[in-house]
Formats: sequence, structure tokens, C-alpha cells
Amino acid sequence: PTSSSLCSATSSPEIVKVPLSDGRDYPIMIGADLLSTHASSLTEHVHGKNVLVISNEKIAPLYMDRVTKIFESAGKMVDTVVLPDGEQYKDLPTLNMIFDKALEKGLDRKCTFVALGGGVIGDMVGFAAASYQRGVNFIQIPTSVMAMVDSSVGGKTGVNHALGKNMIGAFHQPQCVFIDTNTLNTLPDRELKSGISEIIKYGLIRDAPFFEWQEKNIPSLLARDPQIFAEAIKRSCENKAEVVAADEKEAGVRATLNLGHTFGHAVENGSGYGTWLHGEAVAIGTAMAAQMSARMGWIDEALLKRVYAILELADLPVELPVDSPMTADLFHSLMSVDKKVANGVLRLILLKGGLGNCAFTSEYDKTALSDTINEFVSECEQ
Ligand code: NAD
Ligand code: MG
Repeated sequence: PTSSSLCSATSSPEIVKVPLSDGRDYPIMIGADLLSTHASSLTEHVHGKNVLVISNEKIAPLYMDRVTKIFESAGKMVDTVVLPDGEQYKDLPTLNMIFDKALEKGLDRKCTFVALGGGVIGDMVGFAAASYQRGVNFIQIPTSVMAMVDSSVGGKTGVNHALGKNMIGAFHQPQCVFIDTNTLNTLPDRELKSGISEIIKYGLIRDAPFFEWQEKNIPSLLARDPQIFAEAIKRSCENKAEVVAADEKEAGVRATLNLGHTFGHAVENGSGYGTWLHGEAVAIGTAMAAQMSARMGWIDEALLKRVYAILELADLPVELPVDSPMTADLFHSLMSVDKKVANGVLRLILLKGGLGNCAFTSEYDKTALSDTINEFVSECEQ
């Protein structure tokens, strides 16, 4: 038997609860082969008769049949939508394909939308569910590391606009998140590593023991060890659930989940479409945030070294390549349109107060910011 089938024979699902007000609590179920062994835990979260499963052209051939059969076996009427694959289709015209199908099939407000895929599908289906007939239920079946540890939890949904990423959206929480870790077996290596950068983020901003666990276990994550992966996903979801429960609509602490993202988004957007995956850009951004924190004396050299070491252990980038088009001016102009700019002042998430602690603040040394940017672009400006 393969290691994953061994695992499925011995483990029951881990459950992480997301505690929210007004009876909107929901479970995140995590385990190997859950789609085969725990289908009823999925179907019990569908309250009406109709289910619309939405996936993309890459993931549907792999998992759509299994998922539709689960709902059909529970007596549901199932329809499907298959969207084109890619962040470039996370837009309003593609979103409309979901509404077209729902309306053609006459789905009413008791229907449930099911997102089967990575973060792009999850964000789009969540937003479709938030706005179809002013809101219907939805379920997340995330299939990428990024979606399992981050995007499927917390209720941020939306699509991109030509003038900005995730600029059109809503907060809408799912009925449940159903994570079958076996679906990771088909995820490309580069996507897997990209998702690991969001796992590293939780340790750095709020969970020192988790960071120390990662320092030992990242090689097993890269080797796709199913038990180690389930543990990493569970601890990531626990962290995300706690932050979301404390600050659902991002009035404060939820912003700390964006460690490395302000620098990272600049790298992602400034380098040209398709150059970096999100998690790769976040890794470079995390290195920049750590550098800047060390420059101001907010963390010591030893912690700075550990940040670099763990990113490198995960085979993630920590610097810009020599042919990068990023310049200091480009950094400054791209960072000035970040959603964390308030009253014209950019707030950053920086490391401060030792491993597992950070600050979300506009009170930082502006020279340290410029010096950090200059240091990162100097390699590519020669
Ligand atoms: P993605 O959804 O594009 O998936 C990455 C690639 O992997 C795609 O080609 C996808 O088809 C493929 N894929 C996914 N699962 C697979 C599987 N099991 N087997 C084979 N291929 C598979 O990208 P992502 O990294 O999952 O998510 C990124 C998106 O998530 C971005 O749009 C980002 O804005 C969003 N996001 C949202 C939140 C949130 O809180 N809502 C948080 C983080 C990221
Ligand atoms: Mg992210």
C-alpha cells in the first residue's frame, strides 16, 4: 500500500472550529482520503435540494465525478460549472458563468454552491454565493496548499478588477471546509512550495512553537508526507480561525496575516504576469519585512537568519533575480496603492518582540523602508 492509503486506514478527520457570532460557526475537516471515507460529513452541511459544484478545467477531470457522486448519493440534484484555469480568469465575466448556470437551472435561495479547487475557485465561488439572490450557502473543498491553509478559511471572497487585485468582493463565510489531503498528490511541486510560505507566516506572526516545528518538518512537507501535511494544515487553520474569530472584518489584528504581502504584492504586480506565484512573491516580501525589522533593531540578527533559513529550506526565493524589472520607484508606487494605506500612510506588518510576535503599524523609520528596498533592487539595477 502507498503511504497515503496507510494513513487513511488509520486516521479519523481532525476538526478545527471557526467560532463566529450569530450561529455562523463552522467546522474545518482535515484528513487523508476524506472524500472516500467521510462523505456524509460533507453532505450534512447541505440543507436544500440543489447543489452547484464549481471547479476549473484542470481540477474537474481529477475530482469532479467523485464530488458530484457524493451529493447525488445523498439525494441531491447536482449541477456543475467548469471555469477556465488561472488567476487571469478571476474576473467578473468569468464569475458570470456561475450565475448563468444557476439561473438557467432555476436554483433558488436554498441551494448550495460548492467550490472545488484552489484559492481562485474558492474566492470566486464564495463571492458568487455571497451575491446570488443576495446570498446562498456555500462549501469549500480546497485542493491546493494555499487554499487549505489560508484562502478557504475566513470568508474573504472576491474577484480581481483590471485596476486592482481582489478589489470587488464580500465577506461570506462557508458552511464547512472539507480538506482531503490526498488531493495534494496531483498538485504541482511549485504550487506546493508556494503554499508553504503562508504556513511559515503563521509561525512568524503568532506561533513560535509552530515555527520551531516547521524548522524540523519542512523537508517532510516537501516530500508530501501525509501525516506531517495534515498537522501543518491543522495548525495553520487553528491560527487562521483564531485570528478571524477575533477580527472577522479586518479592523486590526487580521491584517497581520498579510506579513510579507505589501512587499510581495509589489513584486507580484511589478514583475509581469506569470513571473511569480503568490507564495513565492510573499516569500521575497517576508525576507524584506524581516530585513527592515532587523535594520530598525526590532529583531536580532539570529532571528533574521532563521527567517532566511526556513524560507530557503522550503526552496522559496528570498531575493530578486538579476533580470528583475523591479526598481525602487516601482516598489514605492506599487506599495502606495495597498489596501493597508489609511489616510495616505502605508501601514506595514513587521517582526517585533521576538519569534512569534509582530506589529501592524505606520510608526516605522521611513529610511529603513527605503534602505531595504534599495538593498533588494541593487542586485538587479546594475
Ligand atoms: P490557484 O487556485 O490558481 O491554484 C494554483 C494552480 O494549481 C491552478 O492551476 C490550479 O488549477 C491548480 N490546482 C489546484 N489544486 C490542484 C490539485 N489538487 N491538483 C492539480 N492542480 C491543482 O491558486 P492558489 O495558490 O490555490 O490560490 C491563489 C488565490 O487565492 C489568489 O487569487 C489569492 O488572491 C487567493 N487568496 C485568497 C485568500 C482569502 O483569504 N480569501 C487568502 C490567500 C489567497
Ligand atoms: Mg497570501
